[in-house]
Amino acid sequence: MAQPLMTQPPTATPTATPTATPTATRAAVLREHGAGLSLEELPLPAECEPGAALVRVDCATLCATDVHLWNGAMAFPGMLPIVLGHEMMGTVIAAGPGTRDALGRDVKPGDRIGWSESVCGHCHGCTVLRNPVACAERGYGFLLRADRWPYATGGLCEHVYVTPGAHKVVLPDDVPDTWAAAAGCAVKTVLHAFDRAGGVRPGSSVVVQGAGALGLVATAVAAASGARRVITVGAPDARLELARRFGADTLIGLDGDPADRAARVRDATGGRGADLVLDLAGAPGVGAEAVDMAAFGGRFVVVGSTGPRPEPLPLGTIMGKELTVLGSLNGDVGDYHRAVEFLRAFRDRFPWDDLFSAPVGLAGATDALAAMSRLEQVKAVVRPQM
Ligand SMILES: [Zn+2]
Ligand SMILES: [Zn+2]
Repeated sequence: MAQPLMTQPPTATPTATPTATPTATRAAVLREHGAGLSLEELPLPAECEPGAALVRVDCATLCATDVHLWNGAMAFPGMLPIVLGHEMMGTVIAAGPGTRDALGRDVKPGDRIGWSESVCGHCHGCTVLRNPVACAERGYGFLLRADRWPYATGGLCEHVYVTPGAHKVVLPDDVPDTWAAAAGCAVKTVLHAFDRAGGVRPGSSVVVQGAGALGLVATAVAAASGARRVITVGAPDARLELARRFGADTLIGLDGDPADRAARVRDATGGRGADLVLDLAGAPGVGAEAVDMAAFGGRFVVVGSTGPRPEPLPLGTIMGKELTVLGSLNGDVGDYHRAVEFLRAFRDRFPWDDLFSAPVGLAGATDALAAMSRLEQVKAVVRPQM
């Protein structure tokens, strides 16, 4: 391994017998953008620190960010090698002394848990801003290299080490593995965005730009929140049909030009435009289009534009319509908990299982990423134990 060993965990007494605890894990490692993931062994700690857990990954779901990291559309200097997968859940194999979840419940071997990225708890972001997403030492999936302690943290591992700083949530029995995994990024990101927007006023109109996993979940949240008119903009047609089942009243494809799409939004909203527009697409031009679609006094939340490319916005229109433009980045363990509860609360109203493809093992993860990049799957499912 190219990188020197970083800090090692302090010695602690695990609650499970050491013989039951694996000391290495199989993992699908990204070593070169666009290439096949490499199946390798990564070390696991011999013992769990206080507050940490060793978890058997039962399910990981892939996010568009995983696809962008894999194909190199999103890349940072020195980020490789990494293990992709930041939506995952699993069963606790061993837990360090005093390990609790974010709601104060003991985390014990046999518990099913999900978790959020790790935070340090003592930086400006953690203490002054009180925003875990702003943590200077945020241990988020793709920010952690596979050749440095704690090695195995990404979802595409048979086992992972869930560090003390990662906020854990013991999962209710009635939440399927796939839902709990997807709550880890897609669903919590959407709920956080609606939170940033101040929620949905009942009877208002909402435009969701994008019909991928985020767009479909946002469509459901808007419908469940009492919007009178939910308009989903995206492609391909099969995704829009899915959006209808997730609560969209009006579907707008991408075959026309931006002026046509904005005109259709006005048609669907009595000529006023939408009270809330959410960018969950990140495609070029979405910003200007959102501003055009928004009603006077409307809000526009930018959630999907992850790339480095500058996106022009018509400032005169923002001023003239007195729009509120907000950014929204991911979410924290509070959003994760709410995401799980949202899926439970609306388990019968929306076809959550239709988001997920048939599961594959670690060896199938590269093909799953490629299929998602071709928009053939909304959300790929990897079961590392397969
Ligand atoms: Zn911090
Ligand atoms: Zn994600």
